[in-house]
Amino acid sequence: MLTYKTFRYLFGSFFIATVLYGSLVSPLPFWVYPMEIMLWMLFIIYAAFRMRAGIFLTSICSLPNASKKNIILTFDDGPHPVYTPLILEALKAMHAKAVFFCIGKNIVQFPELAKQIAAEGHIVANHSYNHSNFIGMYAAKKVAEEIAATEQIIQQTIGRTYKLYRPPFGVTNPNIAKAVQRLSMHSIGWNKRSFDTVSKSTEKVLNRIKPNLKNGDIILLHDTNAHTPVILAEFLLFANANGFIFELNDILDLNNLDE
Ligand SMILES: [Zn+2]
Repeated sequence: MLTYKTFRYLFGSFFIATVLYGSLVSPLPFWVYPMEIMLWMLFIIYAAFRMRAGIFLTSICSLPNASKKNIILTFDDGPHPVYTPLILEALKAMHAKAVFFCIGKNIVQFPELAKQIAAEGHIVANHSYNHSNFIGMYAAKKVAEEIAATEQIIQQTIGRTYKLYRPPFGVTNPNIAKAVQRLSMHSIGWNKRSFDTVSKSTEKVLNRIKPNLKNGDIILLHDTNAHTPVILAEFLLFANANGFIFELNDILDLNNLDE
C-alpha cells in the first residue's frame, strides 16, 4: 500500500518538475500551480476520511482470513445508560460477541456498564477520551494523551486492555498515525458503515449492512442510538439464518491475545 511519505515524494517531485519546466523551458498557464496545490489538498482530505486507503496509517477494516463466516460487530461512542444495556440484551439473545469502542469519559461516568460489557464476554476498546470534533487538529502528543488516558481507564475498570483503537469519525492524519504507532495500538476501521446515527429508517440502515455479507466483515454501529438495538436484533436474525457467527477470536488474534 502506498503511504503518505510516498505520495508526498511523488507530488513534491511533480510540483518541482512543473516549476522547473515553467521557468526554464516554456511558461505554463497561471492556473497550473494553484490547481496542483488544490489537487493536493483534495487528496489530503480524501486520505484523512478514507481510513481504508491506509495512506496515513494502516488500519484493519476487515479480516478476510477470519474463521469461517465470522462477522465482527462494533459499537462506537458508548457506554450509554439506556442503549448499551439494550444492545447487550440483543447480543445475549443470539449468543453474539462484539467490540465496544468506548469513549474514555463515558467509561468514567458509567463504569458499571463497561464492566457489564466485559463480564458478558465482549471487548471494551478505545475510542479516545473526549471524542473531540477537533481531534483531527491535535498534535501527536495530545492524541497520544487521549488514547493513553482511555487505555488506563479501561485497565482500571475492567482489569485489562486490548490495544484496539478506533479513531473518532474514522479520521486519520500524520499526527494520529504517530500517536497510534507510539502507543503500539491497532487501528480498527470498518468495511460496512451503517450510518445508524444519521438515518431514521431502520430498513435503510439494514439495507446498508445486510447485502454481500462475508467472512471477516467489520460492521460499524453505535450504542448511543434509539433504533440501533432494533436494527441489531433484526440483523442478528438475518445473519444467523445465513450461517454467520459473531466471535472475537479473530480480533483477539491481532495481539495474540488469549481469552
Ligand atoms: Zn465515534
